[in-house]
Amino acid sequence: MKYLDEFRDPVAARALVDEIKRRATRTWTIMEVCGGQTHSIIRNGIDQLLGDAVEFIHGPGCPVCVTPLEMIDRALEIAARDDVIFCSFGDMVRVPGSHEDLFTVKARGGDVRIVYSPLDATRIAAENPDKEVVFFGVGFETTAPANAMSVVHAGRLGLTNFSLLVSHVLVPPAMTAILSSPTNRVQGFLGAGHVCTVMGTSEYGPLVEQFGIPIVVSGFEPLDLLEGVRQLVDLLEDGKAELRNAYPRAVNAVGNTVAQDTLREVFVVTDRQWRGIGMIPQSGWTLSPRYAQFDAELKFGVKHLEVAESADCHAGEVLQGLLKPNECPAFGTACTPRTPLGATMVSTEGACAAYYQFRRLELPAHA
Ligand code: SF4
Repeated sequence: MKYLDEFRDPVAARALVDEIKRRATRTWTIMEVCGGQTHSIIRNGIDQLLGDAVEFIHGPGCPVCVTPLEMIDRALEIAARDDVIFCSFGDMVRVPGSHEDLFTVKARGGDVRIVYSPLDATRIAAENPDKEVVFFGVGFETTAPANAMSVVHAGRLGLTNFSLLVSHVLVPPAMTAILSSPTNRVQGFLGAGHVCTVMGTSEYGPLVEQFGIPIVVSGFEPLDLLEGVRQLVDLLEDGKAELRNAYPRAVNAVGNTVAQDTLREVFVVTDRQWRGIGMIPQSGWTLSPRYAQFDAELKFGVKHLEVAESADCHAGEVLQGLLKPNECPAFGTACTPRTPLGATMVSTEGACAAYYQFRRLELPAHA
């Protein structure tokens, strides 16, 4: 398939692996902040192929995994109301809240619907004027433009029964928080290609300067990732802190300015809680006052929820790269994709689920 097969070529991949291994004089610790990249690295065995040249630590790049428990509980409370049709992408419905998940609410009779676009939710709102229709707007800079567009669309349609439960988060503040932590182990970042497709690369230059760390924007196919790692290892070996773009077929410095204009119109930057990490200042988006009538939090007034994380789950340490998923005592025993204790085992993009699915049951020698 064009644009896929040529980026999965095993001969070219082997050449890149050999070049990285030749260049690396030590084990470099690299973090990707993207669940799609995490899964591609594990699924394609890139971590195993690179051996001692690179240790990957899997950052907070899975949107489902970082959505705070309080927000999941808020979604559950809204979804359980008789007057609500609660719409969500499929990956959120099995994420455990303090006591249950959205599937459980649906099994009890709640009207929870899996949709494939936030515009499906606006259509449902137009078809059901006697119900309140809520869309769970979760994710990074990639999903935010479509969610912002749904609000603009609802406004144009004059819908008063549509609202968004917003839990959007931003990648650069999370990278700042990781680099500022006294326990930081990251020496170089693979930048998330899809985020940069929307936002461009210019946000990352200040991070490179402030922390003296190289960042290479990368795609998701095996050759994209290996080329990103190759450039990163080159920079690390040369002692250079630079921003590079190894995904030029999709990413440029400016990004998608139409999407950015819509984001600026609909959202404002706010402090956000990240599950497993805590509060990161100015790290998310919420609806701007101009669109407050579409804010489900304001409409339903669900505030001050008491939340209870599983005491056995170490997802916070996994998300910060302090623990490998298979180092968690519950991994593969008490916690499996069928019986997840934490969001990183639920989501198909979560690091724990990736390690379980692709049988990373043994620790690598350098861990
Ligand atoms: S394996 Fe399960 S319990 Fe352990 S950190 Fe991952 S999600 Fe949490």
